[in-house]
Amino acid sequence: MNTTISEVEKTQIEKAHEYVNKVFEQVKDRNPNENEFHQAVKEVFNSLVPVFAKHPHYMKQAILERISEPDRLISFKVSWADDNGNVQVNRGFRVQFNNTIGPYKGGLRFHPSVNASIIKFLGFEQIFKNSLTGQPIGGGKGGSDFNPKGKSDGEIMRFCQSFMSELGKYIGPDIDVPAGDIGVGAREIGYMFGQYKKMRGAFEAGVLTGKGLGYGGSLARKEATGYGTVYFVDEMLKDAGLSFKDSTVVVSGSGNVSIYAIEKAMELGAKVVACSDSNGYVYDKNGIDLDTVKRLKEVENKRIREYVTVHPEAEYVEGCTGIWAVPCDIALPCATQNEINKESAEILVSNGVKAVGEGANMPSTLEAIDIFLDNQVLFAPAKAANAGGVAVSALEMAQNSARLSWTKEEVDSKLHDIMKNIYRMSKEASEEYNAPGNLVVGSNIAGFLKVADGMVEQGIF
Ligand code: NAP
Repeated sequence: MNTTISEVEKTQIEKAHEYVNKVFEQVKDRNPNENEFHQAVKEVFNSLVPVFAKHPHYMKQAILERISEPDRLISFKVSWADDNGNVQVNRGFRVQFNNTIGPYKGGLRFHPSVNASIIKFLGFEQIFKNSLTGQPIGGGKGGSDFNPKGKSDGEIMRFCQSFMSELGKYIGPDIDVPAGDIGVGAREIGYMFGQYKKMRGAFEAGVLTGKGLGYGGSLARKEATGYGTVYFVDEMLKDAGLSFKDSTVVVSGSGNVSIYAIEKAMELGAKVVACSDSNGYVYDKNGIDLDTVKRLKEVENKRIREYVTVHPEAEYVEGCTGIWAVPCDIALPCATQNEINKESAEILVSNGVKAVGEGANMPSTLEAIDIFLDNQVLFAPAKAANAGGVAVSALEMAQNSARLSWTKEEVDSKLHDIMKNIYRMSKEASEEYNAPGNLVVGSNIAGFLKVADGMVEQGIF
């Protein structure tokens, strides 16, 4: 009897593998040369094999074919005049990937590397991340190849206004709700909100999140992604009998996610010894002075190398990947995609890293993830670990529609509960689908099931 069941199961698993491989090949053919998008899709698809083996009706419903094709990808021209009166032209994007469980929701990234592949990888991941938060939000993402570095405030404002004059046609509080990401913070959201308000002739607070506190922003939104990442990693550590207390931590980047991951890790008793920007990293054996980093990055808009002018006992090293050679117990990549490759992962492992928590989106390559998992490093994948930002964005939407504001403590406490819940769901799914402790598999499955069931219930269109 057992042999028969296992034979049946074997056939189902083989069929599921064939299905996943076939659809992945279609995704590659249909989206040629979009390597980041392929990478994100591959990671999710590989995790879902046991789901299709157990629930073959998802294959009949062509859920993978449908979930990997965006509802729409909008690409548009953004022209604006710089301070010298020269006309500049950039390209804007918005991918509205999937709105099965709520309006499209996801950030806007302003960075010269932005292209369709990057926006699609981020939008695809966002579907599952948003589902994990337990909030009613679908997946989307957008941005532009505009480089905000070195631009004046007036240039940033004119760019944001031009960007929104096109994007504004496609979004709305019940349609699509953008937010910030790399290169887009409260200032840029403010300029875009102003332009949207002017276009609509109405104050629709719920159209954007990450707004200023005076006009509908949520307390604790700025801190949410970094704090949330640390809350998630803390749960994972506790389960293994470990903790942040007295551990040595390395955090890459020095932007929004990094700063608040450092703050919360320190609050929990960790010593954070290194952080970086795209030029290089600082190592401070006494522990990074966060006030200095905040002043340099949030107030003065300076490079991280300036840290050593205030703290000459610290060391600045040119080149950002070297940060992974700094020995640590816990590594929190919080800068950008693919910042930890195979070689960096091997160095982290050989230096005895115990846990890796992804604050950035897809910061580890697929090879790096395999190295962590093969070496029993506790691994908190991005779509679960950094979901705190979008979770608090959804709380901002809820406050906007109820026309009220919660205190920072209330929002932080809800964030903490959400991150604990995401950890629990990811862990339970990993156990149910025979990959105990593999939170990559667990979070992909837990995020997928709710969306897939919704797609089945809502029919084919
Ligand atoms: P941010 O405020 O613009 O900061 C990005 C930081 O990363 C900057 O310090 C930047 O340095 C640095 N950086 C960029 N490329 C780097 C590299 N190759 N090596 C080292 N440092 C590098 O952006 P953010 O909002 O913190 O976002 C960081 C990551 O978190 C992104 O992957 C984003 O998608 C993800 N994320 C953000 C949120 C959110 O709420 N903000 C939510 C979920 C996920 P430079 O100044 O030199 O460019």
